[in-house]
Amino acid sequence: MITGIKGFNDILPGEVERWQHIEDTARRVFSLYGFSEIRIPILEKTELFRRSIGDTTDIVEKEMYSFVDKGENAVTMRPEGTASVMRSYIEHKLYAQDPVAKLYYMGPMFRYERPQKGRYRQFHQIGAEVTGVTDPKVDAQVLTMLCHYFAELGLTEPTLQINSLGCPECRPAYRQALIDFLRERLDSLCEDCKRRYQTNPLRALDCKSAHCKEATASAPAMLDSLCAGCDDHFTATRRHLERAGTAYSINNRMVRGLDYYTRTTFELVTGLLGAQSAVAAGGRYDGLISDLGGPAIPGIGFAMGVERIALLLGDQHFVGRPDLFIAALGEEAQDEAFRLMCGLQRNGVAVEMDYEGKSLKSQMRRSDKFNARFTLIIGGDELAKGAAVLKAMDTGVQVEVPLTPEEVAARIT
Ligand code: ATP
Ligand code: MG
Repeated sequence: MITGIKGFNDILPGEVERWQHIEDTARRVFSLYGFSEIRIPILEKTELFRRSIGDTTDIVEKEMYSFVDKGENAVTMRPEGTASVMRSYIEHKLYAQDPVAKLYYMGPMFRYERPQKGRYRQFHQIGAEVTGVTDPKVDAQVLTMLCHYFAELGLTEPTLQINSLGCPECRPAYRQALIDFLRERLDSLCEDCKRRYQTNPLRALDCKSAHCKEATASAPAMLDSLCAGCDDHFTATRRHLERAGTAYSINNRMVRGLDYYTRTTFELVTGLLGAQSAVAAGGRYDGLISDLGGPAIPGIGFAMGVERIALLLGDQHFVGRPDLFIAALGEEAQDEAFRLMCGLQRNGVAVEMDYEGKSLKSQMRRSDKFNARFTLIIGGDELAKGAAVLKAMDTGVQVEVPLTPEEVAARIT
């Protein structure tokens, strides 16, 4: 038997309905906020991710599915979506008509991580990006849409945490202060944080090791070192969130694992998935488009993990019921049922029948399994009359209907 690869999952019927619900809800909610879908390729030049996500991040250092293809090109299966969306935005000059773009995407991402509950090697993200606006109203709008989406799914559990990571004007001084702070505590840090405390000191604040958590408990916070511009931006973002009625808390230790973030950063956090606590995450990336060779246009966005949302939705039932199950006794009745079924399906009615012509008892068992809204039983008498009894399964109400697709459909819809 050939099995699938560890960390790469099948999404089977029964489960896939929950995924469709997650995706359909995103399309519906995002369209209320004026977002259009963009579809980006799975494979990109490795350089794109090195340059945008950053060489000293976990993703680029150890998690990327990179290889050299038959044409000697260094390529990578995308570990996230923002870099590709911005590459596309620049390449197709989407900004030429209007720098303001609201885009969303959904699809698989790939990271070489240790598979566990809520963490896989192929996983799926739904993400949204807004380019071309610096005004903090956009920050609040993006966060409000994200929270609206979770409310629409009936999930109140992941809560919004926000922070600011400053900008190229104020971050360098903070970074240096943090390096100085970490240097004094190097012995207490884990190997990773020790190694990268000069190249990427912020990661120490986000490290999952208990020693690092303890050693950095009194570390300086970016929020206390913001320049006037970033401070105003953060204050205004909070004011707009309050105006929008979007609940949040401040987490001044939140740093994101990608280098391109500036100013507003955020996570939707849950206590229900262990170490896999971030369900959605994102932030502003005002320098990314120009870093990738485009014009100086700001941006902000987020990505949500579909597997983690599906885990939070749990065993809720999303599998649909067919409208009708037709049971038929005898070959002639079977043929009639088949004709009727095809006609009804063309009329927009979801119909099931037993293709093999088994006993009535076994057909009714199948009908129970499908949990159809209506059943129709056709035998010799019904064939002769050209009519049969249609039973509404939830109410038990029975009516006699002529055996034509139009007549049956009229009583079902
Ligand atoms: P984590 O801290 O859990 O590793 P992250 O900071 O790497 O998350 P992002 O890169 O910001 O996550 O991606 C956004 C979202 O994508 C996460 O909040 C999570 O829901 C999901 N995600 C990220 N990596 C994985 C993975 N390996 N498997 C499943 N979902 C993932
Ligand atoms: Mg990660």
